[in-house]
Amino acid sequence: MIPVCEPLITARDIELVNDALSSGWISSAGKYLDLFEERWAAYCGMPHGIAVSNGSTALDIAVDLLGLEAGDEVILPAFTIISPAQSVVRAGGVPVLVDSDPDSRQMDVAQVERRITPRTRAILVVHIYGHPADMDPIMALAEKHGLTVIEDAAEVHGAEYKGRRCGGIGHIGTFSFYANKLVTTGEGGMVLVKSREHAERARSLRNLCFQPGRRFLHESLGYNYRMTNVQAAMGVGQVERIGETVARKREIAHAYDAAFAGLPSIMLPIEMPWAKSVYWVYGLVLGDDRTTGTVEIMSRLRDLGVETRPFFLGMHEQPVFQRMGLFRNESYPVAERLARGGFYIPNGLSLTAEQQRTVISSVREVLG
Ligand SMILES: *Cc1c(COP(=O)(O)O)cnc(C)c1O
Repeated sequence: MIPVCEPLITARDIELVNDALSSGWISSAGKYLDLFEERWAAYCGMPHGIAVSNGSTALDIAVDLLGLEAGDEVILPAFTIISPAQSVVRAGGVPVLVDSDPDSRQMDVAQVERRITPRTRAILVVHIYGHPADMDPIMALAEKHGLTVIEDAAEVHGAEYKGRRCGGIGHIGTFSFYANKLVTTGEGGMVLVKSREHAERARSLRNLCFQPGRRFLHESLGYNYRMTNVQAAMGVGQVERIGETVARKREIAHAYDAAFAGLPSIMLPIEMPWAKSVYWVYGLVLGDDRTTGTVEIMSRLRDLGVETRPFFLGMHEQPVFQRMGLFRNESYPVAERLARGGFYIPNGLSLTAEQQRTVISSVREVLG
């Protein structure tokens, strides 16, 4: 079976991890944590980086920085992983959804303004599947209405919007370094922030809100969301070759683009004029006439040795939120179509040329 994503771990990563282990700094202090935070923040063009345990906890901290009061609203796309909406709900906020743009599969910025109310505090942009969302109109709306912009950039390491790196455009950026992300530390995440106040607060929240002067005196409640120095060592190795990683993901995607260009009733991932996509996943979307066959197509590909994964299911269709009384009778047709007709195919960094040829011939056979 050709897996949808297998991580690439190099001799350099192993050398750095061994060095961290040999140094004895195996918990959440050490030179690799400082280096990883500095280098990732600099790469994304942000002044402060706070490494954390994963991408979901990075979102918890980012949302905590908003200081939401019960009933405050945060606007985010319906079509996403659950982490961002979950962080908002856990913080006592109300997630307010917008549908996706059918071409870019990103949150439809034209719908954002209509959803702004006096209770809106933030726009939580989730860049989807390696492609940036349209940030300029979002930043303009935020400015006009005094809102904070959080970018969940877990899927867009190195992707660019008009030449600026994702996760460095809004006020707060969050990342995951899970094994299937472009840069990985096994498990891991980071929060990038613009202001020193946010940086200090995020560092405190990550570490149980211990106070520098009086360690066991607590003024507020935090979390233990720390990353280890060993994980950060791997991250330093991964950041050193992010340029190659991005180039390789684009190369795999362009080979698929060329091979699948003529297939009927299939939408390939596209790159908007203002975007440099990193194709975190290579997602195919079946046309409306074929969506009933998605499960069968995925199972035929599996029989040919090609692993696939279905797209996200929209937040409004999640039983857990329905039971909380959220999103009742709301409908987001584009998110629903993506969820039913979309799946992605192998494009991990360890994919060989031969494996890619097998994927191409299998997809053409099943979908041609
Ligand atoms: C992977 C991912 C997350 C969650 O990251 P974890 O490290 O798995 O907690 C959050 N948001 C998006 C958009 C993701 O793709």
